[in-house]
Amino acid sequence: MGETKKLAVAPIVQEGGSLLTAEQLTLLSELLANEGKAEITSFKQLYAEFDADKLEAGAAELETAGLLVSTAGSTVKNVIACNFCKGAEEAGLDLARRLDRAVAGMAAPMPLKVGYAGCALGTSEPLLKDIAVVKMKNRFDLYVGGDPRGIKPRIAQLLVEGLGEDSVVPAVLALIRLYVSSAERKTRFSRFVEQAGMERLRQVVKEEGAPE
Ligand code: SF4
Repeated sequence: MGETKKLAVAPIVQEGGSLLTAEQLTLLSELLANEGKAEITSFKQLYAEFDADKLEAGAAELETAGLLVSTAGSTVKNVIACNFCKGAEEAGLDLARRLDRAVAGMAAPMPLKVGYAGCALGTSEPLLKDIAVVKMKNRFDLYVGGDPRGIKPRIAQLLVEGLGEDSVVPAVLALIRLYVSSAERKTRFSRFVEQAGMERLRQVVKEEGAPE
């Protein structure tokens, strides 16, 4: 078996949840390296192994088939969103997609999970994610620091409430950029939140992320 490399593959953020079509599954199985495997991760990405020399062409084919392809490892993962059961508009599908496009694949000191829920029922478990956006009627609340790992799991804390739709992506990007630029390697985002402090993070969101 030659050299193989992993890519993270995910369905688009959509109504109904993380759905893969028969065509997408067939293509994925055709592109997998000989004896390669696809791992279903806990964060809704498939880690798929490709022959190293076919990686680029394979990624392009998957994207043409409507899948999202990004780097595996220490990156920002695809947004872990809810199923939008209240409908695309009411649950904010368009914003969740824009958020995913803006953050997925960014290099980070540790893998970073961003959650999205279309209402306060939060069936996508947003408060167990590093950064979470929860739609509350026509505004959005932003949470940070959730971490379900270990024997002392953390629930994300409310950082800012009532953001307007146009402020959400800049606010999340501002938090990620601060994390990337100032956290030491191997520092989990939840630990970084403790180190930076909620007031500092609120300030960053206010100054750089959410000009309201
Ligand atoms: S978070 Fe709300 S809108 Fe989203 S699937 Fe759950 S109940 Fe439906």
